[in-house]
Amino acid sequence: MRVRRISRIGTTVAAGAALLLAAGACGGAEMGGGDGGGGGETITIGVKYDQPGLGLDEGGNPVGFDVDVATYIAGELGFEPDQIEWTEAASANRETFLQQGTVDMVIATYSITDERKELVDFGGPYYVAQQDILVAADNDDIKGPEDLDGKVLCSASGSRSANNITEDMGIGAELREAGNYSECIELLSNGTVDAVSTDNTILAGFAAQSPDEFKMVNAPFGEEKYGVGLPKGDTERCEAVNEAITKMWDEGQAVEYLDTAFGETDFAFSEEQPEPEGCA
Ligand code: GLU
Repeated sequence: MRVRRISRIGTTVAAGAALLLAAGACGGAEMGGGDGGGGGETITIGVKYDQPGLGLDEGGNPVGFDVDVATYIAGELGFEPDQIEWTEAASANRETFLQQGTVDMVIATYSITDERKELVDFGGPYYVAQQDILVAADNDDIKGPEDLDGKVLCSASGSRSANNITEDMGIGAELREAGNYSECIELLSNGTVDAVSTDNTILAGFAAQSPDEFKMVNAPFGEEKYGVGLPKGDTERCEAVNEAITKMWDEGQAVEYLDTAFGETDFAFSEEQPEPEGCA
């Protein structure tokens, strides 16, 4: 992985025309850029740091499918990998990070929902996941969402997954709240919860890490359209993001990234190019 965190000061600016931009870029705390030729500017992208295969902190640099997608999209927006500033995003802070300008983009297993669209804009989707359930490898009673009735289910705050089961499907699971999915996995490991249910991409990464301990029940349901979260109102950037996503699929890069993330696991990821939703 070539991506690394850099400080803006000291960035080498190659293009002559970008020198002027660079002078301005050294002062401010926030970035902008992205109108092609990022110059000396940087782009700040929120990704998960605790989800193997998607966004996982490895020695200070995040790696995984979302990180590869983010690096590709940033490249199409004019930012070299060394102009990307990575920030850890959790499910619960994705909207506030975008609203407060903490990040310029969120690419963090972030499903496009009508509720979230009130607060932020979405490019994409760049991938369509489904929901599934992770249980202890020796658990034979939970085979699908209906079997979660009366069971303790871990819910990561800010995530829709547990509500999809209790509110949308009306299944009477008892929710145990955690800060993120790696905490849910710890609670599953020590028996505090009976199951973790979220996107199959996320569960596949954890299952692959500890195949003797956990298994995905493989009863996929629903549709989780992964969007590129953007601050509200920048239609131009949203359209540029959508063009980048289309190109990433057309060129075969998307499948290559999925294969890098999950090719060695049992997870049969989707190779279907998602339909773009269009920017408002
Ligand atoms: N994709 C789902 C969501 O955005 C679950 C995973 C997550 O929270 O990151 O709610």
